[in-house]
Amino acid sequence: MRAVVMHEPGDVRVEDRPDPRIEEPTDAIIAVTAACVCGSDLWPYRGAESVHDQVMGHEYVGVVEEVGPEVSTIKGGDFVVGSFWASDGTCEICRSGYEAYCVHRVPMGAIGTQAQRARIPLADGTLVATPAMPDEDLLPSLLTASDVLGTGWFAAVAAEAGPGKTVAVVGDGAVGLMGILAARRLGADRVIACSRHEDRQALAREFGATDIVTERGDDAVVRIKELTDGLGAHSTIEAVGTQESMMQAIGATRPGGHVGFVGVSHDVAIPGGPLFMAGVHLHGGPAPVRRFLPELIDLIWNREIDPGRVFDLQLPLEDAAEGYRAMDERRAIKALLWP
Ligand SMILES: [Zn+2]
Repeated sequence: MRAVVMHEPGDVRVEDRPDPRIEEPTDAIIAVTAACVCGSDLWPYRGAESVHDQVMGHEYVGVVEEVGPEVSTIKGGDFVVGSFWASDGTCEICRSGYEAYCVHRVPMGAIGTQAQRARIPLADGTLVATPAMPDEDLLPSLLTASDVLGTGWFAAVAAEAGPGKTVAVVGDGAVGLMGILAARRLGADRVIACSRHEDRQALAREFGATDIVTERGDDAVVRIKELTDGLGAHSTIEAVGTQESMMQAIGATRPGGHVGFVGVSHDVAIPGGPLFMAGVHLHGGPAPVRRFLPELIDLIWNREIDPGRVFDLQLPLEDAAEGYRAMDERRAIKALLWP
């Protein structure tokens, strides 16, 4: 099969790899229908994380080709969506809704889903089948549920977005944009998007942003406070993962408010003094996307949300290197790959 491999930072190639096979009785093998490049894939691409001959990709939708003897809820021919963490769905952590921290979890990024096929461990816990084969035009939106929408949704839930709330969103990448959609869908009255790029501002408004802030860092905090009677947002979504974005999120949140942080943290060190004086709730980390999959698939299936709009570049898998380049150069928000 063909699969994406990152040899070194900036060196992405599509190569022949062995077809996956059932290794554990709880595995499934899927033919990947659509995969994509994640913002987190750009960290190794830019050399901010070490990488060497690494298979890539952790977001996927596909058709089940084969299941192991202990798989009972998924069968051959099912169209499935799964989380970027494989999880058993049965341990105490899974049952509490934190499947990304399952005691038996497997990171899908180590298996690589930017490929024609993928092995999905713990298939019963990880995969959710759609009601039938989806229409072609639903595929991008279903793919977002695998990570970027699920992560934005978790951030909005962690930030306690809801009716009567003003939600600030730090980060105008795909996850931030999905956080806007989620916050509105969860009933937020106002959503303040932070973006200085016109194309992303337009998409932010389409997904439900009511206000746009173009400042960054401390200046953005000042602006968000101006927009909220000097108080700050009730809820803030942090979707970048840098020191500046984290401190902006904490600073933009009113006392008693909630920060949902999902940007993969890179060298973030929160100073105790400002944290102590902020009086905010902090909750985040790798999103337990599996918790939200049934609800998100339902919303997409019934065409109540259209998160697939976040893919502004679609390429054959063979052109994966261009997808990485376009996202790295910010020519694309998110690149979908068709195997
Ligand atoms: Zn578990």
